Amino acid sequence: MSLPAHIGWVSILSLLLAGVSGAAPTPSVIVLFADDLGYGDLGCYGATAYATPNLDRLANEGVRFTDFYVSSPVCSASRVALLTGCYHERVGISGALGPASPIGIHPDETTLAELCRGKGYATAAVGKWHLGRPEPFLPLQHGFDSFLGLPYSNDMWPHHPGVKHLSPEERLKRWPPLPLLEGNQVVDEEVTPQDQRLLTRSYTARAVDFLREKRDHPFFLYLAYSMPHVPLFVSPEAEGKSGAGLYGDVIREIDDSVGEVLDTLVKEGIDDNTLVLFTSDNGPWLSYGKHAGSSGGLREGKGTCWEGGIRVPFLARWPGKIPAGRIVREPAMTIDVFPTVARLLGAELPKRRIDGQDLWPLLTAQPGAKSPHDSLFFYFLSNELQAMRSGDWKLILPHKYRSFEGKSGRDDGIPVEYESKDAGLELYHLVDDPGERKDLAAQQPQLVEKLLEKVEVMRQDLGDRLTSRQGNGIRPHGGTPQGRKS
Ligand code: MG
Repeated sequence: MSLPAHIGWVSILSLLLAGVSGAAPTPSVIVLFADDLGYGDLGCYGATAYATPNLDRLANEGVRFTDFYVSSPVCSASRVALLTGCYHERVGISGALGPASPIGIHPDETTLAELCRGKGYATAAVGKWHLGRPEPFLPLQHGFDSFLGLPYSNDMWPHHPGVKHLSPEERLKRWPPLPLLEGNQVVDEEVTPQDQRLLTRSYTARAVDFLREKRDHPFFLYLAYSMPHVPLFVSPEAEGKSGAGLYGDVIREIDDSVGEVLDTLVKEGIDDNTLVLFTSDNGPWLSYGKHAGSSGGLREGKGTCWEGGIRVPFLARWPGKIPAGRIVREPAMTIDVFPTVARLLGAELPKRRIDGQDLWPLLTAQPGAKSPHDSLFFYFLSNELQAMRSGDWKLILPHKYRSFEGKSGRDDGIPVEYESKDAGLELYHLVDDPGERKDLAAQQPQLVEKLLEKVEVMRQDLGDRLTSRQGNGIRPHGGTPQGRKS
């Protein structure tokens, strides 16, 4: 019998012993990760223009979080936080890495895939990576047995509508051809608009194949959709299906994909032992008008630390283990996925410090379960600490931000300009005022002082360019230091 190299005899022995002792098997894990999907984009979060029956089913059969956050309102930073359980600033990756960026995750960091692989799990990444294009930083070098997908965002592409007015030579200077990768190899040198139409379906097919193949083996599947990041594309079959235009069709196709994943778990008899999580990497890219999602009434969107940029849907389902149909209103963040999975797998946490906390008590409605975080912190751009949340309160720190308020976007996929605005030292009560409209800083000076003390501790740990602090807890990213991009 030939076995994949990563399945050691120790792992097999531990699985057998678990069976003999009657201990519950550890769950397989699926993380479904949408790109730029807004807080208000799912039926179970208030969307009414189109239906999302499968994602609503995920919510109804599991738990739905109302106050769930990403570490940063932009792609690469958000992704590294999910996969390492650390604030992105701690592991040295901020912003969105460009196609020529020479950096990625440092080899000494432990990813969720490596954590799972360490317990004998089969691992697969499908979809958008965006954590480094050079080979040392691709998924196979960070714990995944296989990878099919794009190395970075689907808009870093010479066919982007925003560069259509340029000559072909000029477009290529702006963006190189966008490749599709299988493992470390380029299998399509130039993704075309026709190829983009099939991305969600191709990712889904690969994910379903993986689930069928691994039905008798514990696995970790990371399915990171390229959509609904602009430019938007759907398959011919999904066109017009939502009755709500292209954006609705794109969400509907993701919803169909989630349905196929859930149906496959049932068909293969592995539904009861698979934890399925769904979330998004940041809020909607509002400047794209009708090609952007909805923040669901939250303030601003992607690229800001207002709630519309950082608060995202989060659904978790594990039949029989996570009580069905519950809503959790406690604050949590994508960094918590890593330690939660570690606990379920009985895996040791990395020796290096991580920032996430175990969400299992909240997921399973244990009596008195509260947010495991005293505070959550939000960095954006190059090491700017722009906001923090503690309990029901959010403190905004003085910074410049891009605003879309009062503007209307176009309907053709071409973005309009943001306006630059200045935020002051502002305080909001997020339960009474989730839209961050009523600044209470002047009325609550003592509370502001107390929150600023927590901010100061964070500045000493992870730095803050806005107040010229050098953090002493920042670790290096992989690759050349000068390659760090904001
Ligand atoms: Mg994104």
